[in-house]
Amino acid sequence: MNSTPFNKVYLTGQETEYIQQVFNSGKFSGGVDFTKKGIEFLSARYSFNEALLTTSCTAALEMAAMLINIQPGDEVILPSYTFVSTANAFALRGAKIVFIDSCKDNPNMDAELLEGLITEKTKAIVPVHYAGIACDMDVIMNLARKHNLFVIEDAAHSINSFYKNKALGSFGNLGAISFHETKNITCGEGGMLIISDKQFSERASVIIDKGTNRKAFFEGKTDKYEWVGKGSSYRLPEISAAFLFAQLEALESIQNKRMQVWQTYYRGLKALEDSGLLRLPLIPQFAEHNASIFYIICKNKGQRNLLLNGLQKAGINASFHYQPLHYSPYVISLSGKKIKLPNAERYGECLLRLPLFSEISDKTVEYIIEITNKIVRGNY
Ligand SMILES: *Cc1c(COP(=O)(O)O)cnc(C)c1O
Repeated sequence: MNSTPFNKVYLTGQETEYIQQVFNSGKFSGGVDFTKKGIEFLSARYSFNEALLTTSCTAALEMAAMLINIQPGDEVILPSYTFVSTANAFALRGAKIVFIDSCKDNPNMDAELLEGLITEKTKAIVPVHYAGIACDMDVIMNLARKHNLFVIEDAAHSINSFYKNKALGSFGNLGAISFHETKNITCGEGGMLIISDKQFSERASVIIDKGTNRKAFFEGKTDKYEWVGKGSSYRLPEISAAFLFAQLEALESIQNKRMQVWQTYYRGLKALEDSGLLRLPLIPQFAEHNASIFYIICKNKGQRNLLLNGLQKAGINASFHYQPLHYSPYVISLSGKKIKLPNAERYGECLLRLPLFSEISDKTVEYIIEITNKIVRGNY
């Protein structure tokens, strides 16, 4: 049996056809046909007020940090258990990153700890919806309102995920989604900035276009095209947007297949959780997730390594996930000390992800379930 990869990009077959159309049009830079179609599709489906396609979710987060005008010394609260980009986007502008621990029973930020971390310098809260499972947005938004803070959602995992029937990424002033090849819907590298707070609309169009009023110029609103503010180059190229649009057209079937795999894992491993041998994802009542990741929380690091190695020997590429940022070499080099965030540290040591992609066969999923059960029960 060939080994099972952790992830495999699903191709609809339509990607090359749409890319050919870009070649035919001769318009390769972003902002035109497929970019517009992608944004229309996403805005209609998820009721986004406004969205821009960017070169990555990292780029969208960097734009968000510029838009809320982060200055050196501003404090930004975000989870330690996340990808580097969540923090880096704000660190680049000189923010002091204040790490918050994860919940005891799920890797999302523990919103109960938020108020204790807010100071006069706090400027923003950045919730990350781990595995496309929503943070408690009512609690976070209420606190942000009370303390007059911005909320930037890192919804990298969260295309087609909801909190109380509203799409993730559309709660905060700004939100960022990823179309990296490891995410549900992809164009290799790509992202989206969701702009729910209209005050950022015009400046976002300037920042994405190198600090120019190119958009206003092309709309005939100005007769010149000039440098009007700070910016950079964050637009998704048209070839990538064409790739992405093919994926978006298949979104429903990609999601159905992923959800089916996720639920098969859940059912097949539930007995292990019921026996207290490990834990499965906890989906709060308010969350409708998108089968972005199927994770297991092992009892300890030893059990996780046993599982990782055992699965590897059986030809299955499982994977751990984030190394908490609060004890990353960079953070330690800045602060000189290691703070304790027990839940984030536990996820760093105990969380394991199983292969999950659209084309994984039912047989392979059953095999992974069988081997996992055997390893955890000590029969392998
Ligand atoms: C993948 C990911 C990102 C970065 O996405 P890119 O599109 O690769 O820049 C940011 N945050 C989180 C939580 C992610 O998982």
